[in-house]
Amino acid sequence: MSKRLLPLVPADLVVDQVLPTPDHLTVMCRSRIAAPLCPGCGHPSSRRHSSYPRRLADLPWQGRRVQVEVQVRRLRCGRPGCAQCIFAERLPAAAGPYAQRTARLGSLQHHIGLGSVKNLGQVACLSGSDRPG
Ligand SMILES: [Zn+2]
Repeated sequence: MSKRLLPLVPADLVVDQVLPTPDHLTVMCRSRIAAPLCPGCGHPSSRRHSSYPRRLADLPWQGRRVQVEVQVRRLRCGRPGCAQCIFAERLPAAAGPYAQRTARLGSLQHHIGLGSVKNLGQVACLSGSDRPG
């Protein structure tokens, strides 16, 4: 049985703390992956260099904005000859590289955008603006 506190937290994250305020919620997390893979050579590494907070917008919860703050590790690649000396760990289930929102929020926004375009297409068909000359 899963011991995860919040079942909607991406699988590669562990929640350390939830900080609620009246208008938003901050979920403090860290990666569940012990030895992330170097993006340059695929070699696992747990040699910590430093860390930084990465803030991701997430799906709202009960009318509150949600921000996931992940403490991302920078790691050293120990494989000789690898061009990637230092790399930041990836969060494949949570968000893509350089993303500023979680994958599930991005997916929802993508589908809303596609639905909007589909509706625009229907409006254009009804108005006859797509008929040839
Ligand atoms: Zn490497």
